[in-house]
Amino acid sequence: MQRQQLYETPRESLVAWLQQHGEPAFRAKQIEEWVWKRSASSFDAMMNVGKSLQESLKAQFSISPLEWVKKERSEDGETTKYLWKLHDGHFVESVLIEAPGRMTVCVSSQVGCPVGCAFCASGRAGFLRNLTTAEIVGQVMEINRELMRLGQKVSHVVFMGMGEPLRNYEAVVAAIRTLIHPDRLGLSQRRITLSTVGVVEGIRALATEGIAINLAFSLHAPSQEVRKKIIPYARHYELGDILRALEEYRKATGRDITYEYILLAGINDSPDDAHALIRLIKPPCSVNLIPYNPVAGVALKRPETDRIVAFRDILKKGGIVTTCRFTKGRDIAAACGQLAFVEHAPAL
Ligand code: SAH
Ligand code: SF4
Repeated sequence: MQRQQLYETPRESLVAWLQQHGEPAFRAKQIEEWVWKRSASSFDAMMNVGKSLQESLKAQFSISPLEWVKKERSEDGETTKYLWKLHDGHFVESVLIEAPGRMTVCVSSQVGCPVGCAFCASGRAGFLRNLTTAEIVGQVMEINRELMRLGQKVSHVVFMGMGEPLRNYEAVVAAIRTLIHPDRLGLSQRRITLSTVGVVEGIRALATEGIAINLAFSLHAPSQEVRKKIIPYARHYELGDILRALEEYRKATGRDITYEYILLAGINDSPDDAHALIRLIKPPCSVNLIPYNPVAGVALKRPETDRIVAFRDILKKGGIVTTCRFTKGRDIAAACGQLAFVEHAPAL
């Protein structure tokens, strides 16, 4: 029998199971304290839970669905990439990005990605399956456990790893609810960001969930025509429909939208493109420019630095709040778009 995953077990189910085993309901709270607040990795660590209950819990539940395989740290020490093995032998990656006062975990939501953007390693790797809620939450909790040993804690979570989160809607929303629940990880909604390629029904649904996380839209081009060239999936939705759904989200949650824009030499990086972008999007919003990170086998190029700076300056002069993400972790292939699943565990 496959064990039940605690990271996705509601408190009520745990209480019901405990009562069936003749245990009082308050045990659920104790167990959850160990799991969520103290990041316990085994039932043996739960000192106020009796030995025999620990054994029954072990037989019924698993704390984490992820098996640690490998960890790589970038030269500057600011980025760490984790490789996990899943119960069915697939692998996923997560990235920890350290900055003063900020520990951000970038999580994957799928094994591979069904969207297949031309510039992205995750997309080129194909799609194997959706991750479960426990597998998504587990990425954050495993890294949090390691940080807690050093007296630190995960402070931010971004859904910007492998996969399109809105194509795994139910599991992703349940993971977000778990991450923000005060009895669970208890992260502030403002410290969670979901990045999407633009799935209209997903954005609309998210606007009705009563959770106000940050939403980032991977726009990448100022017109539907250019967008379709680099994101074949874009043919499924009119750009206007996506922008309207984003506006609905902004109104419902009060959270301004971030537009992500990957800069590809000769494709979407001209001054005309920058002006077209200004006409397309309506403040309050911000633009995050991401100069393309090289992916093996892809014939795309990052623009020269002066062209990137010129593009940024046009947006800024046009009144658009603009940041440029000179991505971290390129030396360990942990930067945006460089995560890909591996079929076999690499040699350690
Ligand atoms: N599927 C979602 C979230 C994961 S990708 C999405 O596409 O939004 C997170 C971000 O990395 C996206 O903005 C994506 O466009 C960007 N990205 C993908 N490949 C990249 C590359 N090679 N260089 C730079 N950014 C890339
Ligand atoms: Fe999927 Fe996002 Fe990569 Fe496109 S950029 S293939 S949507 S992970």
